[in-house]
Amino acid sequence: MSLTNEQNNKNKKLFIWAASLTIFFAMLEIVYGFITGSLMIIGDGIHMSSDAIALILSLIATIMATKATTNKRTFGYKRFEPIAAFINGLTLVLLPIYIIYEAINRLFTPVEIIPKQMMVVGIIGLAINALVGYILSKGNSNLNMRSAILHVFADMITSLSAVIVALAIMFFDLVWLDPIGSIVTSIIIIRGGIAITKESFNILMEGTPNGYSVEGIKNSIKGINQDLTVEDVKIWCLSEEEVYTLIKVNSSANMVKNTQKVIKELVSNTTKIPSEHIYVDIN
Ligand SMILES: [Zn+2]
Repeated sequence: MSLTNEQNNKNKKLFIWAASLTIFFAMLEIVYGFITGSLMIIGDGIHMSSDAIALILSLIATIMATKATTNKRTFGYKRFEPIAAFINGLTLVLLPIYIIYEAINRLFTPVEIIPKQMMVVGIIGLAINALVGYILSKGNSNLNMRSAILHVFADMITSLSAVIVALAIMFFDLVWLDPIGSIVTSIIIIRGGIAITKESFNILMEGTPNGYSVEGIKNSIKGINQDLTVEDVKIWCLSEEEVYTLIKVNSSANMVKNTQKVIKELVSNTTKIPSEHIYVDIN
């Protein structure tokens, strides 16, 4: 489902606000992570940088959605989104691996941590994530927007755990909780990173999108008319939201004139792929 230009413009503004706040906070976390010595804060700073990239990508995708295609780029810039998501996903796997390595080192040779400042950064993180979540919830709902909001809620939990760890260091001197906490959050981030990498890789490889079945389409076409033989079915998506299918059908002599139209309508009804995205080739 596509949003109108007006709705896109509104989402654009909200994404700009959310991205700016996130970039600001990511920089603050990385600087303060080094000042306070907290690996949890540094790790979260890296994670928030990737969040900022994801928000900027959503912004670019929203802008691109209103851009017309050209003769040189007949699909426009729609593939920009999965390409950038793939790079972002890989970063989310590789950087946490480094954080885990560093955390293991710190378990053996503990580094001094300033818990008070660590707690302050955690509280700012909670506030900023709550604000970003609020800003995004004002937007017009689509897949992009919903996943962004869900993600921000998960991040609030990370900020909260940084505050709890800071308190534990402050009152009980449990310095080892910081590397342990950063290992746990790194594993969560890696899992998300693998999912993003796999999903965008599938789009780039023109793989069959999740929830669509080549067999299902073949069977429903055979159901129209026994004379029809399906030679080939391809389903792919340009970006997360735009699915296309190409169907090659052979038919014998008594083919009805409007078979093409019937196939398009049938496939469109069963798969929800818009009929203008369906190409049916009858020989
Ligand atoms: Zn995040």
